[in-house]
Amino acid sequence: MEVKTILFVEDSPTMRRIIANSLKRLGYTDIIEAENGVDALDKIEGKTIDLLVTDWNMPEMNGADLVKNIRAMPEYETLPIVMITTRGMKDDVIKAMKLGVNGYVIKPFTPEVLRTKLEAILK
Ligand SMILES: [Mg+2]
Repeated sequence: MEVKTILFVEDSPTMRRIIANSLKRLGYTDIIEAENGVDALDKIEGKTIDLLVTDWNMPEMNGADLVKNIRAMPEYETLPIVMITTRGMKDDVIKAMKLGVNGYVIKPFTPEVLRTKLEAILK
């Protein structure tokens, strides 16, 4: 599927810069950046996104709650969602999948891992 606009959510400014740069290098240039779930929902108001890339641990609203909110919206029932997180326990991965996350990337990761994951989800 074709991805035009990405919603990318990450609370750490450093990680946000690194991951946004990786996404841009992979050819995704239309990126809405947000620093937590509340900020993300606010920023997509009136817009359409084609992919969500989100951290899990964040203040205000974490990634799991953001995914719940997004999946509850009829237009985003099948939106591709990738979670990028330090939470690498098997239970975390299972929980994320149950919430409707399509891909799971554990930090630290290489741009190659991110590319492979995105390709698998978007084909
Ligand atoms: Mg975080």
